[in-house]
Amino acid sequence: PSSTSMPIDASGDPVNLERFDGGSLAVQEITMSFGPLKVLHGVSFEVAQGEVVCIIGPSGSGKSTALRCMNRLEQPTGGDILLDGESTLTMSADLLRQRVGMVFQQFNLFPHRTVLDNMTLPLRRVKKLSKEVAREWALAGLAQVGLSDKATYRPVQLSGGQQQRVAIARALAMRPEAMLFDEATSALDPELVKGVLSLMADLAQRGMTMAVVTHEMGFARRAAHRVVFMDQGQVVEDGPPDQIFDDPQSPRLKAFLAEVL
Ligand code: ADP
Ligand code: MG
Repeated sequence: PSSTSMPIDASGDPVNLERFDGGSLAVQEITMSFGPLKVLHGVSFEVAQGEVVCIIGPSGSGKSTALRCMNRLEQPTGGDILLDGESTLTMSADLLRQRVGMVFQQFNLFPHRTVLDNMTLPLRRVKKLSKEVAREWALAGLAQVGLSDKATYRPVQLSGGQQQRVAIARALAMRPEAMLFDEATSALDPELVKGVLSLMADLAQRGMTMAVVTHEMGFARRAAHRVVFMDQGQVVEDGPPDQIFDDPQSPRLKAFLAEVL
């Protein structure tokens, strides 16, 4: 549906009810080293189609590295990662990044180019869309995050929360089958975190397949279908949020929760 057919909520923002039709992700026994330093020791977890999996764990436990392997920003040294049953390790990185979008702590926008330019650039370069079609897809992406009115703004004119929503829109504009979020709210001022989390919860409700590395335990509890706890390059526990937060099994998860909750 086009942005013009969208219903409007009480605050005047469009409400997008369109469902995503994504793909599943399966991380299978991946290993990864930086030189002599082994940082992933056979990490496995799955994100079923339309499911949200939150990945939690101490700093340095390998969460970002695992996520970056899922988008081939790092190449795992062993194991496999499947998108809808198909190995991503033999796909071109460009194609994989069209199919699996990623959102970072830093928004990585060009600060002095318009929001629309920021969004059409990758669509033209990677998707090879014409100027007109790229514009159409970009505007559809902006509508998904409720920022249709900011197309001609520059990121420097937007709040951090709005910039992160643009970064999410830029990923969505590619029409990905799954999305990866690496601490997407960690760089935001506290009062701006909620808006980005509620956008992520909205995407989740609409059926986006999502792997979310986060420190926001409230979000993990509310929005995740499953929570994966990593420590020292391994998955130590994997289960529904109730189990992970209310009935942790391992001493390592108990210690982690005691620190963060
Ligand atoms: P997390 O996201 O859970 O904080 P990371 O995946 O960033 O953990 O890091 C896991 C380990 O890999 C850490 O010991 C970190 O220092 C190391 N590491 C991460 N990126 C690099 C890199 N580019 N080069 C060398 N070591 C790295
Ligand atoms: Mg990290």
